[in-house]
Amino acid sequence: MYRIAILQGDGIGKEVTKGAVNILQAIGDRFGHTFHFSYGLIGGEAIDREGTPLPEQTLHMCKQSDAVLLGAVGGPKWDNNPPHLRPEKGLLQIRKEMNLFANIRPVTFYASLAASSPLKPHVIEGADFVIVRELTGGLYFGKPSERRVEKGEEVVVDTLFYKRAEIERIITFAFMLAQKRKKKVTSVDKANVLESSRMWREVAEQVAKRFPDVQLEHMLVDNAAMQLVRSPKQFDVIVTENMFGDILSDEASMLTGSLGMLPSASLSVDGPALYEPIHGSAPDIAGKNKANPLATILSAAMMLRLSFGLTEEADVIERAVKQVLNAGYRTADIAQHGDFVLSTTEMVEKVKYAI
Ligand code: ATP
Ligand code: MG
Repeated sequence: MYRIAILQGDGIGKEVTKGAVNILQAIGDRFGHTFHFSYGLIGGEAIDREGTPLPEQTLHMCKQSDAVLLGAVGGPKWDNNPPHLRPEKGLLQIRKEMNLFANIRPVTFYASLAASSPLKPHVIEGADFVIVRELTGGLYFGKPSERRVEKGEEVVVDTLFYKRAEIERIITFAFMLAQKRKKKVTSVDKANVLESSRMWREVAEQVAKRFPDVQLEHMLVDNAAMQLVRSPKQFDVIVTENMFGDILSDEASMLTGSLGMLPSASLSVDGPALYEPIHGSAPDIAGKNKANPLATILSAAMMLRLSFGLTEEADVIERAVKQVLNAGYRTADIAQHGDFVLSTTEMVEKVKYAI
């Protein structure tokens, strides 16, 4: 039995997680696995009901599970809340509390969606890479940020802090992943100006010695931002620190054409991993049965593969998604002019049928 904690969150989070649970159940039926789902509050709804974006019982439930599936958090309703009562705070907290140090975002190009990509077909066709982003260090978790007045001038401080071991752990993970793929790691930094980046580069060189079959290259982050749109096919595994990874992974997510297609995993040092679509709560289409559920369904497939070792089951889901796209089925976000548009629930049914 596999215990899966479901955190639906806000906005379209509910609709897309429902879809993924539906698909997991279908996989369970077909392969004879029992998936046990338990539900917890997080984000805006948790603030409304429990007065905190990450209630203690949610965290406890997640830690007791074998893996966590999250929808999305946030929405305009909570935008003006004080910092500790923002839905996104719940996400930062759960990452920290569950030791989720590595965020993995595969960027897969679907030939049938070529028309949705902002890049020319010959540039994007065949692109297939993974961004590995450090998730629990760097600027977002440095010494508490502060504003103060110095010599009559208002100044502000954020701190970029890393321990060598944190860098080593994420870079080692990237190399292990590259070993199973195209055997190339691009380590992204800003070593021409940042001391933290110089240490990052040093550690990357050290780790590389343990993986003689994997090629290591260093790339400055500004160049990486440019190369992603200029020639994305050159990449296999990109590894970088928290903030660079945040920015580059959002950039990369648009290359293939839809936010609604891309899954992610956040792996833990010692406990259950968390899986979520990379898109947000999409308040503009929430509750309308319009959201694309495929990113969340693909996140569930990543869970089967990475947390449970159910490779064949994960392949079945990924193949079903491809098949459905090849057959021309589209939700609104990936539809082109003239396409027949499916609702969230209809898309889920199509995938289920293809399993
Ligand atoms: P957040 O701060 O929660 O990340 P955001 O505004 O940055 O929110 P999204 O919530 O991801 O980003 O929404 C960006 C746009 O993409 C919106 O117009 C939304 O409707 C659309 N979108 C996001 N996810 C999906 C999806 N799964 N299906 C269809 N459209 C989506
Ligand atoms: Mg966003």
